[in-house]
This record gives sequence, structure tokens and C-alpha cells, in this order.
Amino acid sequence: EDTVARIAAGEVVERPASAVKELVENSLDADASRIEVTIEAGGTDLIRVADDGYGMTEADLRAAVRQHTTSKIDGLEDLESGVATLGFRGEALHTIGSVSRLTIRSRPRADSSTAGSEASDVGTELVYEGGDVVSVEPAGCPEGTVVEVADLFYNTPARRKFLKTTATEFAHVNRVVTRYALANPEVAVSLTHDGREVFATTGQGDLQGAVLSVYGRDVASSMIPVEADADELPPGPLESVSGLVSHPETNRSSREYLSTYVNGRAVTSDAIREGIMGAYGTQLGGDRYPFVTLFLAVPGDAVDVNVHPRKREVRFDDDDAVRRQVDAAVEAALLEHGL
Ligand code: ADP
Ligand code: MG
Repeated sequence: EDTVARIAAGEVVERPASAVKELVENSLDADASRIEVTIEAGGTDLIRVADDGYGMTEADLRAAVRQHTTSKIDGLEDLESGVATLGFRGEALHTIGSVSRLTIRSRPRADSSTAGSEASDVGTELVYEGGDVVSVEPAGCPEGTVVEVADLFYNTPARRKFLKTTATEFAHVNRVVTRYALANPEVAVSLTHDGREVFATTGQGDLQGAVLSVYGRDVASSMIPVEADADELPPGPLESVSGLVSHPETNRSSREYLSTYVNGRAVTSDAIREGIMGAYGTQLGGDRYPFVTLFLAVPGDAVDVNVHPRKREVRFDDDDAVRRQVDAAVEAALLEHGL
């Protein structure tokens, strides 16, 4: 791979958390019910994502690291949801592999229904370094896929220099994995950093349980359910607002605990945040934020997905109406609890 390609890759894979996001999405796309994320040194030394998804054959593996290869129907899902997730369909593994030492071990699931994938007793290990396939060998491994990304940016020193402290890179990874864990309570998601388990959800299914696993008992026990359909909301594009918000006394000085989703996709939006904060009014101190996990359903054509593939910022055609609707939904929940 030439330098230009590597620099381009560095623009897309900005930091360990961006790689983690792509790998976790792949595991979810592969219908995993268990996803284990293990990182070392904030993900700069190692990122390992192991899943029990449908797995890949040797041919699948070779194709997976090729540029512009995707087994997924381009864009369809994103069109339906109105929120694009990837600015680079079919590029993630190839791109990550061009700026790291990438090892993928995979074995198709016995019940795999993927076209071209056949169940097998033995899996395949593919090693890819700096954009080249180094080896492809049979390997004993469980059903599913393990992707290991070692030494991210080893061949792009300028990009590597941009990385922040281990603590900061870890915080970004933690945030990404948390967002997916909360949005997918039916999947057992775990995060381990330098040998220490940060959290592990059970995959038993309910949001309350996932919040408990991720944030602990104190936060989970303060959560208040939000549940509002269009007919209970002021006029606007939202068809429903549901999830959990914390008692105002359970708050932090960071926005990072606001997890908001539009049609299942993690997003940030000024309108949503302002709606939430408006509902709390003066009950939160200045610069304090609640714990929030809120799912908004909206017709795809009312959302403007914007700016940059890496960012998840959205704007709505009618931001004001969304702000009012979110405010009303959260306020009703708080009111019901005498707040
Ligand atoms: P995309 O996800 O946009 O298709 P990627 O580069 O992320 O592009 O992945 C390329 C292909 O590799 C996927 O389309 C999929 O077929 C396969 N793949 C990647 N990760 C996994 C996984 N964890 N389990 C099964 N297949 C995977
Ligand atoms: Mg992908």
C-alpha cells in the first residue's frame, strides 16, 4: 500500500475507538449473541473483538480484507433508517488492516445460512499486515470470528503521534462499546482493558439490565422509564420516544452519559440534548448532565445525516419540533415520579 492510501486510512480510522466501532458493527451484522472486546493500552497495542456470529469461510476471509468488498446490500438498511452509519461501505477491514497488523480467525457457524458459507470443523486464520495478505492457514477455533488489530498506526508514525494518552483512548473505546451494549441488550457485550473487566452485559434482554451492568446499581436504580408515542407528544416528526433517564440527583459533569439513538443508530443532536436538558430544567446543577438512554423513532426522510462519516451528528428538518417532543416525553416521565 502506498503512503497516500495509508494517510487516507488514517483519516477514516482516526483512533482505536473508530476501529472498535467498525468491528463491533461487523459482529452485530453477523448476528452475534456475544461480543467480547479486549483492548490493551487504550487499544493502541491491541484490539480484539471476538463474536459468536455466523463466521467466515476461507474465501469469505480473503474477500473481507479486499477493498470495496461487502457482503451486505449497499445502503438499503441505511436508507430505511435514514441514518447512514458508514462512510465507507466494505472498507473497514481493508482500511484498518492497512494501518495495523490484522489477524482474523473465523469459522462458519454450523447453522450458518449465509450464502457461500459452509459449516466446518476447522476455521481459517488470515494475517494481514500494512495492506498485504501475509498468510492464510487452517486454524482450530470456535464458531464465530475473532479480529485482532495490533499496533495500530505502526506504519503511519504521524498518525500514531496524534493519539492521546492511554486513559483518553480507553475512554473513547469505552464510550463506543457502551453505546452498542445499551442499544443491544439482547447481545452479551463485554469490555476488558489491560486485563481488567470494565463491564459485561448479560445479553438477557432488557435495557434496565444493560444499564445495571454498564453503570452499576446506584445509577440503574435511579432510572425512570420514558415511553411516549406520537399521540402523546406535541406535533413533530418523532413517532415515539422511549428509554431510561436518571433521577436528577444522579448526574455527572460530562455529556458522555447521554446515549441517544435515532432508529437504533447512536447519534448526537443538539435538538435532542436540549430537549432532555429542558425537561430537567433547574433540577440539575449548572453543567451537570443526567444518565440517559433514549431511543427515538422517526421517518427516514425527516433526518439529515450530516457532516462526516466518523461523526454521528444528526439534524432534523424541524429541530425545534424534535426539541419540544423530547422535552415533553422526558418531562412526562419525570412528572410521573413527582419530579
Ligand atoms: P462492511 O461491513 O461494510 O461489509 P467490512 O470491511 O467491515 O465492510 O467487512 C467486510 C466483510 O467482511 C463484511 O461484509 C462481512 O461479510 C465480513 N465480516 C467482517 N466482519 C465479520 C464478522 N465479525 N463476522 C462475519 N463476517 C464478517
Ligand atoms: Mg463493516
